[in-house]
Amino acid sequence: MPVIFIGHGNPMNALASNRYTEGWQALGGNMAKPRAILCVSAHWYVPRSAVTAMAQPRTIHDFGGFPRELFQVVYPAPGSPELAQRIADLLAPLAVDLDQGWGLDHGSWSVLLHLYPDATIPVVQLSIDETREAATHYEIARRLAPLRDEGVLIVGSGNIVHNLHAYAWGNTSAKPYDWALRFDELARELLSRGDFAPLVDYESLGRDALLSAPTPDHYLPLLYVIAQRQPDEPISFPVRGFDGGSISMLSVRIG
Ligand code: ZN
Repeated sequence: MPVIFIGHGNPMNALASNRYTEGWQALGGNMAKPRAILCVSAHWYVPRSAVTAMAQPRTIHDFGGFPRELFQVVYPAPGSPELAQRIADLLAPLAVDLDQGWGLDHGSWSVLLHLYPDATIPVVQLSIDETREAATHYEIARRLAPLRDEGVLIVGSGNIVHNLHAYAWGNTSAKPYDWALRFDELARELLSRGDFAPLVDYESLGRDALLSAPTPDHYLPLLYVIAQRQPDEPISFPVRGFDGGSISMLSVRIG
């Protein structure tokens, strides 16, 4: 299976039809149908490693201040206790909780309902352990590589540039900040060259990186995606663009 990173942006994209959601839809149609999906979402950023292990994950509306319509969205994809166990086994000796409390947060469902609207493919989420360094996330992620040959689509959902402090709420077409454009371009260059070390060590990339990823949560899912790349595998950017000046909608496909 290919591996994809989706820049999810504003939760309202779940209900929208725009060039981003059309890009996600096309992406879903361009890949072989996966047996299951593993999603690493920016919105399950907690001080532990856990994988959702329930048979029927709930749809979590983990945001406030959005229209009622968004709170009514349900993405009824089944879970996969079996895949959860497989992931825990692959990540051993790292201790991974088989979680029964979380579900699918909007980092997952707001994009999956465009990629796979019929919600029939089982979905499992893996948490991002906030106590660990970026390099450790990259190392952990590499252990998931066998899943690709088992028909599992690994999806990282975050945003390579995500600064809500600078975000122009309600003005999706706001001119992107210079630092945002520069960091987005640098990321694309490094990805295209397969030069991942600086992306893993992104905190040392200076002021542009600091402003683009002021907190690690939306950036780290990218590392789970690039860690899956095999030598000489193609990398492409099926969706590009900026929302509100400070959120990059860049999506990355490997394979
Ligand atoms: Zn988000």
